[in-house]
Amino acid sequence: MYDIAVIGAGVVGSFIARELSKYNVKVVLIEKENDVANGTTKANSAIVHGGYDATPGTLKAILNAKGNAKFDQVCKDLSVPFKRVGSLVVAFSEEEMETIKSLYERGIENNIPNMKILNREELLQKESNISDEAVGALYAPTGGIVGPWELTIALVENAVENGVELKLNSEIENIQRLEDGYLISLAEEEIKAKYVINAAGLFADKIHNMVSSSTFEIIPNRGQYNLFDKSAGNHVNSVIFQCPTKHGKGVVILPTVHGNLLLGPTAEAVDTKESIETTGDGTQNLRQHAEKTIKNLPFNKVITSFSGLRAKTSSGDFIIEESKEAKGFINVAAIDSPGLSAAPAIAEHVVNILRGIAGELEGKTDFNPARKPFVPFMELSDEEKTEAIKKDPKYGRIICRCENITEGEIVDIIHRKAGATTVDGVKKRARAGMGRCQGGFCGPRVMEIIARELNMKITEVVKDKKTAYILTKETKQKKVYDITDKLQTEAKKEEVGGKYYAKL
Ligand SMILES: Cc1cc2nc3c(=O)[nH]c(=O)nc-3n(C[C@H](O)[C@H](O)[C@H](O)COP(=O)(O)OP(=O)(O)OC[C@H]3O[C@@H](n4cnc5c(N)ncnc54)[C@H](O)[C@@H]3O)c2cc1C
Repeated sequence: MYDIAVIGAGVVGSFIARELSKYNVKVVLIEKENDVANGTTKANSAIVHGGYDATPGTLKAILNAKGNAKFDQVCKDLSVPFKRVGSLVVAFSEEEMETIKSLYERGIENNIPNMKILNREELLQKESNISDEAVGALYAPTGGIVGPWELTIALVENAVENGVELKLNSEIENIQRLEDGYLISLAEEEIKAKYVINAAGLFADKIHNMVSSSTFEIIPNRGQYNLFDKSAGNHVNSVIFQCPTKHGKGVVILPTVHGNLLLGPTAEAVDTKESIETTGDGTQNLRQHAEKTIKNLPFNKVITSFSGLRAKTSSGDFIIEESKEAKGFINVAAIDSPGLSAAPAIAEHVVNILRGIAGELEGKTDFNPARKPFVPFMELSDEEKTEAIKKDPKYGRIICRCENITEGEIVDIIHRKAGATTVDGVKKRARAGMGRCQGGFCGPRVMEIIARELNMKITEVVKDKKTAYILTKETKQKKVYDITDKLQTEAKKEEVGGKYYAKL
């Protein structure tokens, strides 16, 4: 029997699992997808919010402020990219400057440090491409940007290093209350746990309703984005919001930690929790709103679009509490924005709730907060590069030409704890396929490497979801020769998944 089952390996469940790995408890992290960070965590604005806009006293306000302050240390420990680039909320009229002043006051109530109200000249010094209509802004220097899926992957790697068991491809089909805990039914096995932490994102209501009558509903709300090429990455320096209006927070323009430019999100009611398509209307809408904030955005440099779904509820705040009807079952639900920013503090808060139920937890003496760093090959010095290639020639072979990612890096991230098994898994961890061609050139090579390293058939390699096959069958007639076949020396050889094929 496990002590604790955490459901959902998004950023929230993964932070909780890693926090629990500091204690002598047996923890399992259960995820229905074939990789971690495959839900909302992979498609959001990636902002570590300053924390001035949530209503004071709410869980969102308290945990955003606390969470933001923890990012420097956790990203250092886990070797994850994080930059405090600062955030701006821009006003376009004197009337909007009044809203900026009330946001500032709210920030003070939320304990947000070092905020400043800027006039137009001060704003221009920070952002030279700001619109001619901008009159001033609220500046929060603690606002930042992070790699959300890199953070989640690193959290899970570190949690697993510290003893957490990760179960991927494990959709929870039912949960039954027992005298001393819960029986959790997965597709292929049943497991028991004394306590359950429900961090299932959009599906947290469904999981909750397995053990209790319905007390909340998660409503999906879609946000679409445009991602610009790195050559547009310097168009802005900080996270730039528009002054909130009765229609919402407006679109945001920001640099990403890897030097791209990101524009989004829209806010659209959708019918299902799978509606992650992007639309022409969405892109049009983003363009219209963005041009209000920033001049000369180079829309010919958009390299991809994507969307994510917010997990909203009617109350508007996070729901983090023990279920009223199910003892030892803790809901961590309705974690929409600023869930990423608050996640480190959510994890501590949840462990405190658990302590209140289960009693004091015994700390581990050998907890290791650091994860083996993933250093991109191109960030090494010339001497380090030569040394790496000498040790393993795969570091001398570039696979992704847009992002300059080597075969050595791809092999490394496949063989890590909770390593990549899919094309998007490689993309999220090593950035192969993140560049201008979006995997058009390197995709087939990445598939070959995954098949070879994981001893799979190339036709079994998927893009992201379990059934997202890329190849269904071979299209050219090939004959398989035994390695000792004399024809081998004559034929044009190709090694795929450990087998030699000769083109006929
Ligand atoms: C458009 C948009 C913009 C945002 N921008 C920001 C931002 O800039 N800053 C910020 O702080 N926050 C932002 N957020 C919010 C942030 O992305 C979320 O709060 C955060 O990602 C939620 O993480 P999670 O782990 O709760 O959910 P998820 O990442 O969705 O993880 C839940 C996991 O549970 C799994 N699961 C579900 N059902 C089951 C089951 N039956 N069995 C097993 N596993 C299951 C899912 O597969 C999933 O992996 C934004 C959100 C959106 C949509």
